[in-house]
Amino acid sequence: MRRRQEARTYRKQHLLQLQSSGQNKLYKRMKKNYRNTDSYVHLSYKERRQLITEIAMHISQWGFARLFAECIDKVHFNPTIAGMSAEQQAFEQIVSRFERFLQSISEPKNKNYGLLNHDNNQTVEMKHTALMREFLKQGTLWTEVNHTIETPLFVDSELTSMVQIADLCAYALRRYLENGEEELFELVFERADRRGNTAVGVRHYTDQSCSCTICTRHRTT
Ligand SMILES: [Zn+2]
Repeated sequence: MRRRQEARTYRKQHLLQLQSSGQNKLYKRMKKNYRNTDSYVHLSYKERRQLITEIAMHISQWGFARLFAECIDKVHFNPTIAGMSAEQQAFEQIVSRFERFLQSISEPKNKNYGLLNHDNNQTVEMKHTALMREFLKQGTLWTEVNHTIETPLFVDSELTSMVQIADLCAYALRRYLENGEEELFELVFERADRRGNTAVGVRHYTDQSCSCTICTRHRTT
């Protein structure tokens, strides 16, 4: 309790300081950051790390879970050549890999269907719904789409624990690629969808010479 109060007082003082010194942009950014992290101020940094590590350890044991991810290094991504934005490419890749996974666990008389859940965001909502419609009509670049339910479900991530789990996985992948942090990454990467020894579910879109675990395991045949 005490820690929570002290952290809140410190944050308030900091915001006032930024406001009175006219650092408007930083003020707005910090205000948002503080608002989003307010539920966790009773935990120290070490405790927060411990919490996410424990969650990642659970995820790594979930034999029923499959991780699909597209990590695009924007330095090596050219939207003109790709003919689409990085976000669009990522979405198309994820839909294709998820669809392929559903195809692989389906039988002719027992088709398995999948539903996409998105974090609620109006701009993304419009774009992805339109893209999904296109994929259903024409398929993606990689596959026909007939196992994925046509309209993505948009949910409030604060109320939906599975979206928070997906966020944690995205965080672990990003920290690995940007900062070389392996602990969380190795745990969640256990769940990457695999065909034989190849981790087909997760891809790192970057320079071809990259030798990170994601690239190495994605190439293995
Ligand atoms: Zn790589």
